Amino acid sequence: MLESDILIFDIIALEWAIALLAIAVFVIVGGFVDWGNRRGMRSLVAEQRHAGEPAWHHLSDEEALGRLDSGHDGLSAHEAAQRLSTHGPNRLPEPKTRGPLLRFLAQFHNLLIYVLLVAGVVTALLQHWLDAVVIFGVVLINAVIGFVQEGKAEDALKAIRGMLSPHAMVWRDGRLVTVDAAELVPGDLVQLQSGDKVPADLRLLRAKGLQIEEAPLTGESVPVDKGVAALPPETPLADRRCMAYSGTLVTHGLGAGLVAATGAGTEIGRISAMVANVEQLTTPLLRQIAQFGRWLTAAILVLASVSFAFGILVRDYTAAEMFLASVGLAVAAIPEGLPAIMTITLAIGVQRMAGRNAIIRRLPAVETLGTVGIICSDKTGTLTRNAMTVAAIQTGERRLTLTGAGYDPHGTFMEDEDVVRPQEDARLTEALRAAALCNDAALEQTEGGAWRVHGDPMEGALLVAAVKAGLDLEAASKRYPRTDLIPFESGHRFMATLHHSHAGESFIYLKGAPEAVLGMCAYQRSPDGEAPLERATWEARVEAMAAAGQRVLAVAVKPAQPHRSELDFADVDTDLTLLALFGLMDPPRQEAIEAVGTCQAAGIRVKMITGDHAATARAIAAQVGLENPDDALTGTELDALDDAALRQRAREVDVYARVTPEHKLRLVQLLQESGAVVAMTGDGVNDAPALKRADVGVAMGINGTEAAKEAAEMVLADDNFASIANAVEEGRTVYDNLRKAILFILPTNGGEALVVLGAILFGFHQFPLTPVQILWVNMITAVTLALALAFEPPEPGVMARPPRNARQPVLTPLFLWRIAYVSLILTAGTFGLFLWEDYQGASIEQARTVAVNTLIMFEIFYLFNSRYMTASVLNREGFLGNRYVLYAVGLLLLFQLAFTYLPPMQALFGTAAIGAGIWLRIVLVAASVLFIVELEKALGRRWRQRLPAASREAAVGS
Ligand code: ATP
Repeated sequence: MLESDILIFDIIALEWAIALLAIAVFVIVGGFVDWGNRRGMRSLVAEQRHAGEPAWHHLSDEEALGRLDSGHDGLSAHEAAQRLSTHGPNRLPEPKTRGPLLRFLAQFHNLLIYVLLVAGVVTALLQHWLDAVVIFGVVLINAVIGFVQEGKAEDALKAIRGMLSPHAMVWRDGRLVTVDAAELVPGDLVQLQSGDKVPADLRLLRAKGLQIEEAPLTGESVPVDKGVAALPPETPLADRRCMAYSGTLVTHGLGAGLVAATGAGTEIGRISAMVANVEQLTTPLLRQIAQFGRWLTAAILVLASVSFAFGILVRDYTAAEMFLASVGLAVAAIPEGLPAIMTITLAIGVQRMAGRNAIIRRLPAVETLGTVGIICSDKTGTLTRNAMTVAAIQTGERRLTLTGAGYDPHGTFMEDEDVVRPQEDARLTEALRAAALCNDAALEQTEGGAWRVHGDPMEGALLVAAVKAGLDLEAASKRYPRTDLIPFESGHRFMATLHHSHAGESFIYLKGAPEAVLGMCAYQRSPDGEAPLERATWEARVEAMAAAGQRVLAVAVKPAQPHRSELDFADVDTDLTLLALFGLMDPPRQEAIEAVGTCQAAGIRVKMITGDHAATARAIAAQVGLENPDDALTGTELDALDDAALRQRAREVDVYARVTPEHKLRLVQLLQESGAVVAMTGDGVNDAPALKRADVGVAMGINGTEAAKEAAEMVLADDNFASIANAVEEGRTVYDNLRKAILFILPTNGGEALVVLGAILFGFHQFPLTPVQILWVNMITAVTLALALAFEPPEPGVMARPPRNARQPVLTPLFLWRIAYVSLILTAGTFGLFLWEDYQGASIEQARTVAVNTLIMFEIFYLFNSRYMTASVLNREGFLGNRYVLYAVGLLLLFQLAFTYLPPMQALFGTAAIGAGIWLRIVLVAASVLFIVELEKALGRRWRQRLPAASREAAVGS
């Protein structure tokens, strides 16, 4: 056997041994990382099991209050602050995530890195010390960069999650105030209403129709009825009806409870499995790319082995030479920087969305947003300003209009052209009093003199109208105190309150949607007291007001038994007396009108789904510019249609009125079945199923319930429709930027690999690039050029093209074609200049320095090409539009000067100084890629122009 053959076998054996070693390390490190994760979780659970558990459900309410030294008015602010310092904030302990060491180690737990490590070890065994040191150095730097970037991305997400901190309504100093849920202390008295997330463990003191969904604790998704009676000590958790546990959701009714435990002391704190819930920094596209990376690595290893054999058997290389060449090939072809760049691009995108008021709760939504074809939006507050004013009041005899703007309670009542004195109209005054008392809002004048409403803006507007008529709100509520209520729910669409006067009168006031209220009324207020209800007349009046874009509200009254202290649905079912209709104006948001236009240009259909009257909805739909505002489907009509018929109708109809959350769910399902990707907004507790079902559920940050936020993928910090359009734009941009990063990085690897492969094929003994030089190119361009693409702003036409097809693969034919030919250009240029230098008699160091700098220069020019996938960059915006690109290029040039001229770098990388003339040649050759790719784009654009419209849309995405 020849000596070289022995060497080959030795090296092959060595390779195998090292590969096995690498796999062993992979398994051990991986196991260690996983173990670390599990340990973190176990220790968290163990820590919390120590907390004692008082049997709160066994205490009567007075005992519970006594135990915590609290009262029916709650705590004073001072006492609460003191308790907060003893008990600490009401927060679950931060999930114990991996420590920095484990996180750092995890950076090495990657197949690509194992290949590099094996390469480094073998290189060292072959006594190429310098190369080995550089390879290990690069692995280390890669890990540090990964570590830092991952940390930054995690911090960014954590900060965004912090923006969604829940609030709680609590009595302090005898007043109901809203505080950060973290500020709750044992002894606080908390108010609950449907849609709230229970902020701490509570011993319930009041409950009215209270139902709570306790799935996070018990796994049971059917809501449980709650009460206040004490229970035997052995009652299991799921049956403790007088307790409300932190993290569960109020699905119905009202209640109040005493805070018994906070933070880690709560039931959820004890069984917290938060570690398992820590969100991975990944999305479907990132997973697809990671998968692609693994395949690529396998393919590269095969290619490296084949070329190893080819080199030795056909080209007479020594095994050592060939091994280094194969290492070079593997290093060249593996896109080491890609995963980190993708993660950071995603994190930057999410941060940018938060800056535009769209807070992402689940990362995959970022990608889905770019595919959204239909947005179903609420009306009130989302498309309109939710700044309501009463514009008209219709009593039995008179139709009055009101002047004045906003919440300023100065204005006049007019009848036709005449000013009216409302105090002189007893029936009008009665209607206004009813509207002001059957009301939970509060009107306040701030120190600056401006008027503010606390609570529902529509109820606030009713208060403003009452004050305009001279009603003293405080005196009225003192004179007719409220003893009970049926709160408003979108299911029954009315609110009722029970009042008793000190004079012994007792009556019910009720306000709500006219369809609901008219059905309960038998009479109407008349000069003689009462007259039978003229239903048709009132219905015509409702239609007329709604057609003017007003939200219409009916107000009614009914006497009650003097001794009654509770109000039931049966009490308000029949025999009410209608007092008046109120017409409220809520103008559309200017930004929403613009955003609807933007969406339509972007091929996204906007549909309005509202609880309001059909005529009101149509009027507002026309004002915001929906495509088909005249055709409205109501909830009742919807119910009459079967699935097939509704699917058909849903394609054309853009306005859905008087719908319930169940209708929303059905609509989302049917729209999805007809192939659309649907975003749906919602705010109420009952919207949760529709939000969950939608491809992108969007909850309102200001007016939305916690239940809706929990179910949503995205939360709008400003409740504004325009923010959805912005989020779609950012979603499209993030996806573009992820694709641009791939489009930029892969040809670089392709070019390098082809250079090495070409050298092997042609039997070069001096390779144009050494493994360490290749590593240098990959690392240095990943942290400068590729990273700059993550900051790429939206392309000018990003909202002028139709939504991306969700099923379209990342690597489209156009992509693969560009990656292939750019790789070839890079190879030809780099090889060409290397050979030219060699031919001119330059040293191998100089020729390699030229090759490296040519490659880098190619990448700089190609970076500009990559800024726009199909649009031209040969303009001012194309070159200067992203300042990070310019910084990155500047920084990279400095690095290259150091790489070329600094003696330590020359020693490390085997480079040598080159002259100015050579630089000029490099720049001229490298600039070719810019023009060739732009030419290809221009030809592509012309080709697409000639296509018929439908196939053009499909081709744009590719
Ligand atoms: P959108 O879907 O456009 O946001 P919405 O969600 O406000 O509309 P709902 O809240 O379901 O719709 O209200 C439906 C109807 O119920 C309203 O048109 C109004 O007539 C009535 N309504 C709304 N709020 C109250 C309230 N606080 N008290 C009494 N009635 C109300």
